[in-house]
Amino acid sequence: RIVHVNGDYLPEEDAKVSIFDRGFLMSDAVYEVTSVLGGKLIDFAGHATRLARSLRELDMAAPCSEDELLAIHRELIARNDLDEGLIYLQVSRGNPGDRDFAFPGPEVKPTLVLFTQAKPGLADNPAAKVGIKVISIDDIRWGRRDIKTVQLLYPSMGKMMAKKAGADDAWLVEDGFVTEGTSNNAYIVKGGRIITRNLGTDILHGITRAAVLRFAREAQMEVEERPFTIEEAKAADEAFFTSASAFVMPVVEVDGAKVGAGTPGPVAARLREIYLDESRKAAI
Ligand code: PLP
Repeated sequence: RIVHVNGDYLPEEDAKVSIFDRGFLMSDAVYEVTSVLGGKLIDFAGHATRLARSLRELDMAAPCSEDELLAIHRELIARNDLDEGLIYLQVSRGNPGDRDFAFPGPEVKPTLVLFTQAKPGLADNPAAKVGIKVISIDDIRWGRRDIKTVQLLYPSMGKMMAKKAGADDAWLVEDGFVTEGTSNNAYIVKGGRIITRNLGTDILHGITRAAVLRFAREAQMEVEERPFTIEEAKAADEAFFTSASAFVMPVVEVDGAKVGAGTPGPVAARLREIYLDESRKAAI
């Protein structure tokens, strides 16, 4: 695999980042994951815009322009012959040469790393046909979940808790309401209405969420942006989640209770189809 580090394209075994890098020592880094279908980028502009926002919110310098980022993504697709998969991008506050809590000055440049992950069959994921199971866990993450930082320890623990409970993923609950999934935005469908938590600092502003809600509204589906509870999810007609790597994924069980008939519902199936069709058309 050919990866990108600070302007260089290298075989992965030759890529190096300092042990003093703040991404490594402090989780002082932000990231994006963009999917690739048919060798083209899905929703690149959305991911680039959110990356710029994450950097701004943390007073972190941008490593390069959006055009340069696009060129790097395309170069990695070409060099790795990537047809279907993901591109991971990370920007950290760089390597100050020592460990210190205070942010370094502008002389320390950000560290930019990108790599590809080949996922043949990403769009044809068999899980979308049977749906997945989630458990609910307490949301004990920090309060700025709208910034896409690499602080992924608790979401990783959540996935492990789900596995241990015989489920696939976890939905996080704060003050009685679902915030989001460990790595996705959460939805229920009741009486034809699509319900998903409103944007704020308590959830990530999903790029797939924005696209799916736009397509839903264009298709005259009713959308309600408000928090919902696990009890509402259990009593819903359907549930699903969205993310750049899973697109629209039906959820058929919440804390052991079947949602609706316990099979993927028509709204999730339709949104998945529209999202994949429209995104492929708009891919660059
Ligand atoms: N929420 C969290 C916590 C995430 O980590 C992610 C994606 O990684 C999402 C939501 C979905 O965002 P997107 O659709 O931009 O992938």
